[in-house]
Amino acid sequence: MADCGCDSIKEKIDLVPYDEALEKLLKFASSVQQTENVALTQSLNRILATDITSAIDVPPAANSAMDGYAIRLSDVNTGSDTRLRVTQRIPAGITGEPIQAGTAARIFTGAPVPAAADVVIMQEQVNVDGDYICFEASVKPGQNIRAAGEDIKSGQMILTQGTKLRAQELGLAASIGVSQLTVTRRIRVGIFFTGDELVEPGQPLTPGKIYDSNRYTLTGLLQTMGCDIVDLGIVGDTLEQTEQAILTATEQTDLVITSGGVSVGEEDHVRLALEKLGELHMWRLKIKPGKPLAFGIVNDTAFMGLPGNPVSVFATFCLFVAPFIKKLQGRNKIYTESTRMTAAFDWSKPDRRREFTRARIERDKDNQLHASLYPNQGSGVLMSTSWADGFVVIAEDSVIKSGDTVNYLSFNDILE
Ligand code: AMP
Ligand code: MG
Repeated sequence: MADCGCDSIKEKIDLVPYDEALEKLLKFASSVQQTENVALTQSLNRILATDITSAIDVPPAANSAMDGYAIRLSDVNTGSDTRLRVTQRIPAGITGEPIQAGTAARIFTGAPVPAAADVVIMQEQVNVDGDYICFEASVKPGQNIRAAGEDIKSGQMILTQGTKLRAQELGLAASIGVSQLTVTRRIRVGIFFTGDELVEPGQPLTPGKIYDSNRYTLTGLLQTMGCDIVDLGIVGDTLEQTEQAILTATEQTDLVITSGGVSVGEEDHVRLALEKLGELHMWRLKIKPGKPLAFGIVNDTAFMGLPGNPVSVFATFCLFVAPFIKKLQGRNKIYTESTRMTAAFDWSKPDRRREFTRARIERDKDNQLHASLYPNQGSGVLMSTSWADGFVVIAEDSVIKSGDTVNYLSFNDILE
């Protein structure tokens, strides 16, 4: 076909730009509705299913930010020494008595500031003389006092639905006294890997065979994103086996992902099987790497047939599957923002497809950050994905000169 030029003409008409393909794909993803209540200690990396509003002020009461003395501002002499009698001692966890005129309370960090006190003098600024303290300090109202509700006000929304819970969100929830959170249920993903050439690692490699690396790339990616996995392993290149695997994998899963067999060769059965069993959408993508992405719906389950090439699996997962899963999980942040980075390379071969080159951030001799490319950007070169920490996105039809600014997408941001 390529000889007569038909293929290239067809590609010019057909190729779907990345943003358009992603938008079409995401229309099929709806957030899971089921939720579960999980103890705070089990909530890390889960997705919050509700907004959280505080029922208390944090801190609940004004408290001392220093070890020192709580006093009344009206007792302070300006321009000369102030001398006050210390009549009480208030450690953290104890509530003191209201401060009487002319007196001070010894107070420690985190202890509630007693009524009528409006200033805490640091202990370093004070001379102690028996029961008295003496100081000459310029004093401002509220000095060294953390106001009630300074962090969080009662009634304030502190976390929004769809937030992925990091350590700091768990601490924040704990600070308002919440002990468990309502999170969306985990996504279940069925996976299998087509190819008669595939052998499991640990087995001897006989002639003509290769190890199934996609299984481990994909499993790791899904685990990173907090998914449960139903793994059917290697599936032979026949229509029957492919159909059977699709039917099994779509039982009780939210999404099925496969690798290989989505091209148009005689040994590529995923596409045919999908057409027989459900609804098929195929997109020839205007990106590199990444061949056609087969997307379908079978048994109400979303199906994504990724290409077989190991780098294409990794890239199409990052570019399509990761946002799809984020949407299924009910997250409030689905897209990954790119950052601007200085190129440490020349790119002289413009391509009409957008290229997602494997890159990493390094420091130049002036200690400035810049992006370098793995020297071999072939779609079978899995080393590039391990060497890299992100993609440098090279726009359609563009060249790049060292020192130019480029867009960089971090793998961590995509998979977080
Ligand atoms: P396919 O799309 O099935 O034609 O596969 C494209 C290329 O990816 C071929 O070179 C396959 O051998 C290779 N490939 C397919 N599946 C895997 C896999 N699970 N692990 C490693 N390489 C694979
Ligand atoms: Mg194959």
